[in-house]
Amino acid sequence: MSGRVVILGGGIIGLSAAFAAAAKGFGVTVVEAGRPGGQASGAAAGMLAPYTENPDGPDPFFALCLKSLRMYPDWAAAIEEASGRKIELRRSGSLAVALGEADVLPLTARMAWQNRYGARAELVGSSELRQLEPQLAPDIETALYIPEEGHVYAPALVEALESACRRRGVAIAAEAGRTVRLNLGADGVEIGTERAGTFTGDVLVVCTGAWTGLFERELGLPLPVHPIRGQICAYPMPAGLIRRIVVSPQAYWTAKNNGTLVCGASEDVAGFDTSVTERGIARLVRWGPKVFPILKDLEPVHRWAGLRPGTLDGRPLIGRLGHAPRVVIAAGHYRNGILLAPATGAAVTALLTGEVPPVPLDAFDPLRFTAVRQIEFEGMRA
Ligand SMILES: Cc1cc2nc3c(=O)[nH]c(=O)nc-3n(C[C@H](O)[C@H](O)[C@H](O)COP(=O)(O)OP(=O)(O)OC[C@H]3O[C@@H](n4cnc5c(N)ncnc54)[C@H](O)[C@@H]3O)c2cc1C
Repeated sequence: MSGRVVILGGGIIGLSAAFAAAAKGFGVTVVEAGRPGGQASGAAAGMLAPYTENPDGPDPFFALCLKSLRMYPDWAAAIEEASGRKIELRRSGSLAVALGEADVLPLTARMAWQNRYGARAELVGSSELRQLEPQLAPDIETALYIPEEGHVYAPALVEALESACRRRGVAIAAEAGRTVRLNLGADGVEIGTERAGTFTGDVLVVCTGAWTGLFERELGLPLPVHPIRGQICAYPMPAGLIRRIVVSPQAYWTAKNNGTLVCGASEDVAGFDTSVTERGIARLVRWGPKVFPILKDLEPVHRWAGLRPGTLDGRPLIGRLGHAPRVVIAAGHYRNGILLAPATGAAVTALLTGEVPPVPLDAFDPLRFTAVRQIEFEGMRA
């Protein structure tokens, strides 16, 4: 496959699109305003949890999440091979804990439909629960165990993916600063940046995460993507002491190989502000000992925040623009961009090549927010 693809945004989504497109033979350039993986992707807890994240019922978003989880082992192996680095993919299983009797009913309902999709979920009682997760508070008596879910160490994943992209021949223009100009012509695309000059290509793929809404005017369609800040922290924790992802209605915990227990995360609206507030972290710290008594006298050693790209309907935007066919959008992955990276990369290349995408993409059409689908846009017709 030939053709030059310019990808705007070097988070997990832009890099996964680049990795997949380069494998198909495209000449790929990633243009990143700052450091690759320096925004939401490097801040994420790294959970790969399609069942936990979709408690209500099967829909196209669940199908995309599940497909992506199942693509992970091969995708991770390809990145590790291309980069020579480890990304710490662990199928730890997850435990959604019931903190009272009222929490059991929704977990039972979830289990019923999710087992039809291969979850192999089990409602486990007190003694089995202690075997699965010995550090849990003694008054937690029931949890939904899903063995298939797991996690990655997101900072290691994005670093490895960046390196794998470079080794596949992807050019990465980091610290490019603001995009100051998008020219979307009949013959190609041209992207002017503040600090890294101008880039040209045949197709532009917009993967700018929480910043995607800023391109509404240039791209000529409503892009209701908005930043939702996630504040998150990590405790020191000997590796192996906490084994699963543990999820409660107020917080989640996932232990990493580097001797930390990551606990997340707030969901607050603060524009593009990535600062950490006392209040945002205090809620997580307060909640910890109720689930893990060993956290009672521990203080987090790291606190950080990132901006999730939220959308109006909670689903990402993945598709080619009908009125600007040289533009593909892959953005708005909200709480699940790490999980959705393999499937999104494959979906983007399917849009570039005309091949069949990993799941039908109709539900993710970026044009779904506009009543007028055929927008006349100066200079955009191919
Ligand atoms: C606290 C927290 C915990 C999370 N936990 C999980 C989890 O456990 N599992 C999971 O699957 N997901 C999780 N997520 C969500 C996940 O991090 C996001 O969905 C994902 O990182 C989105 O990836 P992205 O590449 O679209 O965005 P980003 O990583 O934000 O990348 C977008 C990039 O675009 C760049 N950019 C913006 N504008 C421009 C421009 N004009 N020109 C060039 N570059 C530009 C930015 O600098 C940025 O690097 C979490 C998020 C947070 C904040």
